[in-house]
Amino acid sequence: MALSTAEIAAQLSSLLGPTAVIADAGDMAPYLNEPRKRFHTPAAAIVRPADVAQVQAVVRWANAQGIGLIPQGGNTGLVGAQVPLRGDEVIVSLQRLDKVRAIDIAAGTMTAEAGVILENAHKAAEAEGAMFPLWLASQGSARIGGVLSSNAGGVNVLAFGNARELCMGVEAVLADGRLYQGLTSLKKDNTGYDLKDLLVGAEGTLGIITAATLKIFPQPEDHETALVSVASPDMALELFQLLRARAGSRLNAFELIPQIGLEFQLRHGMLTRDPTAGPSPWYALVELSRMKGTEPGALEAALEAGLEQGLLETAAMAQSAADRTNMWAFREQMSEVQSREGASIKHDVSVPIAAIPQLIAEGSAAAERVMPGIRPVPFGHMGDGNIHFNFSQPIGADPKWVMAQDDAVHEAIYEIVLKLGGSFSAEHGIGQLKVDLLKRIKDPVALEMMHAIKTALDPKGILNPGKMLG
Ligand SMILES: Cc1cc2nc3c(=O)[nH]c(=O)nc-3n(C[C@H](O)[C@H](O)[C@H](O)COP(=O)(O)OP(=O)(O)OC[C@H]3O[C@@H](n4cnc5c(N)ncnc54)[C@H](O)[C@@H]3O)c2cc1C
Repeated sequence: MALSTAEIAAQLSSLLGPTAVIADAGDMAPYLNEPRKRFHTPAAAIVRPADVAQVQAVVRWANAQGIGLIPQGGNTGLVGAQVPLRGDEVIVSLQRLDKVRAIDIAAGTMTAEAGVILENAHKAAEAEGAMFPLWLASQGSARIGGVLSSNAGGVNVLAFGNARELCMGVEAVLADGRLYQGLTSLKKDNTGYDLKDLLVGAEGTLGIITAATLKIFPQPEDHETALVSVASPDMALELFQLLRARAGSRLNAFELIPQIGLEFQLRHGMLTRDPTAGPSPWYALVELSRMKGTEPGALEAALEAGLEQGLLETAAMAQSAADRTNMWAFREQMSEVQSREGASIKHDVSVPIAAIPQLIAEGSAAAERVMPGIRPVPFGHMGDGNIHFNFSQPIGADPKWVMAQDDAVHEAIYEIVLKLGGSFSAEHGIGQLKVDLLKRIKDPVALEMMHAIKTALDPKGILNPGKMLG
């Protein structure tokens, strides 16, 4: 017979002690309220294990009782993967596993527990003269386990890859409570399937990550940053190619932002000063890293070459750390500012980089046909082929009416994305938001393989039930 929520809380309390369990509705709220406020299902309880052995104890208990567990890090995920779907699940918060276990400069690795906040991982690396190059606007809350389980991207994927590329090995508790000990700093180890790559990006459906070996890098001497005014996404694409040809892997970021983003942020007082060199239909935020012993000026020289070739109109160069911060704030605030312009309809999509101008042009026209007056706000990681293809509601429209039409806009955008050979979820994952899309669009053979893996590793389906595969 199924346990009541009171029995679940009581059994967890006797397993880990009462301070590790949260069962009061008010105290559970911070673990249930996710950033986009789309999902509102309660949990049976929240449990906060203090160490790996306690994680194992909770998982063994849940497996025996057939209770669903939802691993949670910082609760910043954008697809509802970290919050309940049914209402009878227990959220396992990894926030107390928050130690950086080791930093090995020679090997270029940091071993961090799942609950380490991303920003604290940055600080730990910096304290040793190194850098962990995964930057997200949510880094003050997102935690290593969540970042890996959602294979997060962010603004430096161009140079350093997604979370997956930054992870060498993981330690994880499997659905039956066994510990998979896969922490390693080996660059070469061809001894069978890459189990780390199964767990990274699994959204907590295959195991609970308790720690990971992460790649760290030498800190650059400096950054060269500019906000470049470009006439169109086509020009931005050409500028990207020029910069990549000149800077190679030192080109850390190439982010596209439309003029409407600047208008929004100035209107809502989100920028202390305009970081651009003047009005322009589009801006490219570009950043190069400069390693020790190299001369400054590479970005300026590249932009001068771009100017001669007619690829850009003008550019604002960051002259100080404050300028750089202001430019990045402009980029990072793009998501937040949209909420001040009424309802927004969002798509986290990727296409081959060369297809981005076509995606933006065709997608904007298609959305306008579905909802006249809708305002396209496409921005993001152009250098990775990943655009957050968002739309703000028509001015004066009823936000509820707009959101009731969102499926028609989604369909129009996804049709174009798929035609261009792209993905309907570039970096935010599937969670509960895109389960139906995955079923409908993913290659059937790939889906069968995914189900086979899930059944093999979690036969009772206790790990993040209903997420990703449905
Ligand atoms: C303002 C803002 C900006 C963002 N920017 C970006 C961005 O640029 N790029 C990007 O990719 N994402 C971005 N995100 C999304 C989000 O921050 C990332 O997905 C982040 O990696 C999630 O980390 P988290 O610790 O909050 O995970 P959570 O939200 O807690 O969980 C995310 C997923 O991981 C699972 N999980 C959590 N911990 C574990 C664990 N220890 N073991 C197994 N599974 C686990 C959960 O079950 C869930 O499936 C942004 C979000 C916000 C709010």
